[in-house]
Amino acid sequence: MEMNEPDRFLSRRQEKDLLKAANAVARTEFANPRREGCPDSETLNRLARRRLSLEESGDLTDHIATCSPCFIEYSRYRAVYKRGIRAAYVLASAAAVLLVAVVISRNFPRGIPATPPTTVARAPVPTGQAIPRVLDLRMRGVSRSDTPNGPAEGNPPRLPREQMLLSILLPIGSEEGVYDVALVSSSGQPIRTATGTSKLQDFVQVLPVTFDLSGLSPGRYELHIRRAQTPWNTYSLLLE
Ligand SMILES: [Zn+2]
Repeated sequence: MEMNEPDRFLSRRQEKDLLKAANAVARTEFANPRREGCPDSETLNRLARRRLSLEESGDLTDHIATCSPCFIEYSRYRAVYKRGIRAAYVLASAAAVLLVAVVISRNFPRGIPATPPTTVARAPVPTGQAIPRVLDLRMRGVSRSDTPNGPAEGNPPRLPREQMLLSILLPIGSEEGVYDVALVSSSGQPIRTATGTSKLQDFVQVLPVTFDLSGLSPGRYELHIRRAQTPWNTYSLLLE
């Protein structure tokens, strides 16, 4: 059966009694130069650190109270132990203060931040030249590369031959992710490639890519689009 915490170690009353006895002992009333019947240093140390059960410490306290050498030794261990606790407490407090200081300095940076936010140029965007365009493929029939002329390809979407920031509205059911886009000529030659990450906007996957279609001949092309390593989907496209 487990004993309650206050009963396990030296009680406050026992300690008081011990300290009271100390005065008497200090007068070397109980000098015991030969240390007869004395507990060993380890036991005294454990008692000072409250590492002995009440049963173990019962007779010990009686002895210490009546043995000057033991009491002096015990007092020394006790003092060291209490200093240790105080030091640990001071250290813990200092650590807490330091932690608070770090948190504050991180949340309230003064002057120039240590690590300025790096702006990563995702793609070369020639400002003032690229024109935002939207290519709506939501209702376009998806056909595999081997059958590029599906039933929905009769009236292909049109794009001007210029530099553009193209927002491709992907077909319904498309998944979010990184997409490869390639503009392929009628001879099957990829002439422009781009990569973009689609984002869901108002229930539509919008894939932004930068395309420079200036300098290309007008006519029919194919736009190949694939997500990650999935097969390509092909759409007809008319450059004007
Ligand atoms: Zn003793």
